[in-house]
Amino acid sequence: MTLEQKKEIVGQKIAVWFSCGAASAVAARETIRLYGARNSVRVLNNPVMEEGWDNRRFLADVEEWIGRKIETVTHPKWPMASAAAVWEKKRYMAGVRGAPCTALLKKEARQKWEAENPCDWHVLGFHAGESRRHRNFTITERANVLPVLIDAGFTKERCAQILVDAGIRLPEAYALGLPNANCIGCVKATSPTYWNLIRQVAPDVFHARCEQSRRIGARLVEVRKERIFLDELSPDVMGGPLKAIQMPECGIFCEERETAEITQ
Ligand code: SF4
Repeated sequence: MTLEQKKEIVGQKIAVWFSCGAASAVAARETIRLYGARNSVRVLNNPVMEEGWDNRRFLADVEEWIGRKIETVTHPKWPMASAAAVWEKKRYMAGVRGAPCTALLKKEARQKWEAENPCDWHVLGFHAGESRRHRNFTITERANVLPVLIDAGFTKERCAQILVDAGIRLPEAYALGLPNANCIGCVKATSPTYWNLIRQVAPDVFHARCEQSRRIGARLVEVRKERIFLDELSPDVMGGPLKAIQMPECGIFCEERETAEITQ
């Protein structure tokens, strides 16, 4: 976006979707810096009960940093925002039909909010390493997205450094070696490396996913191109290293297409 185009954005409504990740935190800050004085900027978050506990601490720190309240957006039919409750009710966790937790707790919650709060622009945490993902999104989903991080050339690493320099501790998930601050034990992941890491860092979550996925019949993990139940996964089996690109933040628009990417 050129400087001239940015200057033309005045008196408009801008929704920033904060996912408790480093990139969307910096995106919120950049949006307020660039557009906050002459536009109405609202920062929104879809909580999910299964996220790491430290995400709430991070959210509070980011609120203080950006000087704005971050509004909570939940689905009216799922006020507790529990992904496990969604899986149980739908009898489906993740697969070719996507993940119902994302579809309901993120996408549909967002759509219901938008129906009551029309916005001119949206801001997501697409960083400088995600230009292609941003472009695809503007083609297939909606064109009115402000690419504040891409325009600034901020990579995911740069966003993390900006936060560290501001004295804000990143969500604990990163220190645990997880590729993002999504739910601990995200059912979109099929990587044995990921699930064996969850077994180590969050054994209670691992066992809960084992129990529920076996009961529902969801083969969550893939080993040598074969889907197996989580409770069949050997602790010694490892896949490739975890890459953030394979597990983008479960943002508001994280939908079936991403599931397809992750399971490739
Ligand atoms: S992070 Fe994973 S488990 Fe959590 S809501 Fe998103 S897709 Fe579902």
